[in-house]
Amino acid sequence: MSRFSDCLQARKFCVLLEYLPAAKHAAPARASFAGCPAFMTLADRVQADDDPAPLEAAAAYPEAADQVLHYSGKGRDIADFEKFLGQAKARGLCSLLLLSGDKLKQHNDGRLQPELRSRYLESVNMVMAARRDPDFNIGVAFNPFKYAEAERDAQYFKLQKKLKAGADYIITQLGFDLEALKQAKDFLAQEHYHQPILACVMPLTLARAQFMHRRKVAGIVLTPHALQLLEREQQADAAQAERNVYLRCALQILICRHWGFAGVHVSACHKASEQRKLEDALQQLQALSLEECLQRWHALWQLRTGQELRPEVAVFSRRAPVSQVLKYKNLHAMHELFFSSRAAKGIGGLIFNAPLWNKPQAEEALLKTEFISKHGALGCESCGQCRIGETLYICPETCPKGLANGPCGGSSLDRCEFGDRECIHSVKARLAKSVAQTEILKAELIPTVAIETRSTSSWKNWFKAPQL
Ligand code: SF4
Repeated sequence: MSRFSDCLQARKFCVLLEYLPAAKHAAPARASFAGCPAFMTLADRVQADDDPAPLEAAAAYPEAADQVLHYSGKGRDIADFEKFLGQAKARGLCSLLLLSGDKLKQHNDGRLQPELRSRYLESVNMVMAARRDPDFNIGVAFNPFKYAEAERDAQYFKLQKKLKAGADYIITQLGFDLEALKQAKDFLAQEHYHQPILACVMPLTLARAQFMHRRKVAGIVLTPHALQLLEREQQADAAQAERNVYLRCALQILICRHWGFAGVHVSACHKASEQRKLEDALQQLQALSLEECLQRWHALWQLRTGQELRPEVAVFSRRAPVSQVLKYKNLHAMHELFFSSRAAKGIGGLIFNAPLWNKPQAEEALLKTEFISKHGALGCESCGQCRIGETLYICPETCPKGLANGPCGGSSLDRCEFGDRECIHSVKARLAKSVAQTEILKAELIPTVAIETRSTSSWKNWFKAPQL
């Protein structure tokens, strides 16, 4: 077992200090931070698509006892991940944080042809693969900062899949809305999950806030109130503004500790000077009770209603349109009849096991027929492993990242991170509630599609696979 997993099991509040593999002037790795066990975490391609790999960067910190390696699925396949697991294990690095990842910087068009599209390996599939080895300490990300009902539901559904797949611990997205953080913690307790949760925090300077706002960093919520406050503070007194930045971060850490979080993941604090400032602030505030911390938090953020760190939302809740419900019902009936029923499996097995289908021309004709019959209605891209029975007949390939198990963290008020469509996982979550099928979105672990399966007929593959 790693020192980090020991700490999680012993419920010792820990601090993960995030380092960027390409960052300059980083502090040496730390074994403790403000009296808590500390661990270095190495982020994966946060600054650029070709950043050094965390596994390589880890070697530059031989003093670090137990580094946590992030692994983002963007631009990667399951074979890449299996290789990474072998390499990490060989180096004794068994603490992982597995993420589907934000969009690749070069991937700007979510409507590209399938053969030109970047692929994203889903976190759920990575957890399933890593869990085969009990030595790995597997972390997953979770974004509780969602402010439309469907996208919030979709996040929680997917979290349950990640936990079912075998995740050991959870790290939240960076965010400043304490109510949303508390909701995540309460959810785990209510649903009797034992996995510890850590909150991602950051000393939020004006420059960082403006950068994230300007770049629309995926999944980060920064309200006008927060941005304007940081701006006013900076203009009034730069030295005090900086002190406030570290005091807020320290308060968030202490509040999470009072609430029973297992620790925090501290972003943008990898320089020795930044770490010193945060430790000083923690030392200054550590004797405060939860009530006092919350009062100071409200005062420092100038919160009157407590809602100022949440976006204004015009419509929180919407019902699935009748047309979509009817489409679901029709497709479900057809799926049962032609694919799932005992008769369909028997007849299909006889047809598709015939030698005819081994001929390339026959296979190509079948693939074309399947594409023509499904592309218009579903957005089919001939992935070869049809998963629509597990995704409420909403094709996962209509998600620009091709995610089948649920959303990434990047949507904003139901809009996809790519900005050109509604997030299909919000559509699915809304529909699932209308047709009483939420369980499937929480529990059905959908396997990834191997590259060699793509551009083959899913009909043939379905009936040729051993039928249970
Ligand atoms: S999931 Fe089904 S509908 Fe979607 S691309 Fe794959 S075969 Fe086509």
